Amino acid sequence: MTAGRPVAWHRARVVEARAETPRSRRLVLDVPTWPGNDAGSHLDIRLTAPDGYQASRSYSVGSSGDGTRVVLVVDEVPDGEVSPYLVRGLQLGDELEVHGPLGRFFVWRPPGAGADPAALAPVQLIAGGSGVVPLFAMASAHEAARDATELRLLYSVRSPEDAFFREEIATFEATRVDWAFTRRAPDGATRPPGRLTREALAELAVGAERAPRVFVCGPTAFVEAVAGWLVELGHAPAAIRTERFGGTP
Ligand SMILES: Cc1cc2nc3c(=O)[nH]c(=O)nc-3n(C[C@H](O)[C@H](O)[C@H](O)COP(=O)(O)OP(=O)(O)OC[C@H]3O[C@@H](n4cnc5c(N)ncnc54)[C@H](O)[C@@H]3O)c2cc1C
Repeated sequence: MTAGRPVAWHRARVVEARAETPRSRRLVLDVPTWPGNDAGSHLDIRLTAPDGYQASRSYSVGSSGDGTRVVLVVDEVPDGEVSPYLVRGLQLGDELEVHGPLGRFFVWRPPGAGADPAALAPVQLIAGGSGVVPLFAMASAHEAARDATELRLLYSVRSPEDAFFREEIATFEATRVDWAFTRRAPDGATRPPGRLTREALAELAVGAERAPRVFVCGPTAFVEAVAGWLVELGHAPAAIRTERFGGTP
């Protein structure tokens, strides 16, 4: 569970469904019994076929706080069992079973108003592709709280069109956002497109000497590469929290 919020099964209804990018969909669920969730949490969705066959998968929550609306963004994994249905089959008004909120260690809460800014460690968020969902929730919580934390988001994604929450990220004022486009960068970008490297990470992320807390999320291979480079660059392993979305190890 996320601190103080009981984990349970809930019935959820799809109240909004729209294309987020050409291969992903944003789903807004109304979950009347949802206890709220901290930024970074996830939930499990369980689907049941007419013959009783069940499949469940985890999805990060892109929203946080005490409300009963839950925002998800699902990327379609070609030939996947569950994601193609969530992206193309699920209809407005459909009901789903969800279990959560989950993820005690991969959450971030803005510090209270009385926190001493000098005592707050910077926070570096590093997202690969759909891994931005829980990190977007953290940055949005920071934007809303306007707390004294220095919070930065490094988002590695194929092209501007593939970015989740593009419009919302463009409005961020309290969060520094660095983009690392892997296939196509927008006109005027200062960096050519290409996969994130250790050197680019050293340049774009808060340095180890400032002892940031780091959250890394994305496909397994991305998370493992980035976490390894962070350690090589001198970051304390205990300061690095990771969440792997699956895919090639
Ligand atoms: C904590 C957590 C949070 C997650 N949050 C999100 C989220 O916010 N949005 C989101 O879109 N997904 C998220 N995922 C991934 C999600 O749970 C599923 O794994 C994904 O939707 C694929 O499910 P599937 O049934 O379509 O594919 P499957 O039928 O399970 O897999 C089909 C094939 O695709 C590969 N594969 C599985 N997952 C991935 C992946 N993520 N990337 C590339 N290849 C993959 C498998 O190895 C397999 O070869 C999260 C995973 C975890 C563990």
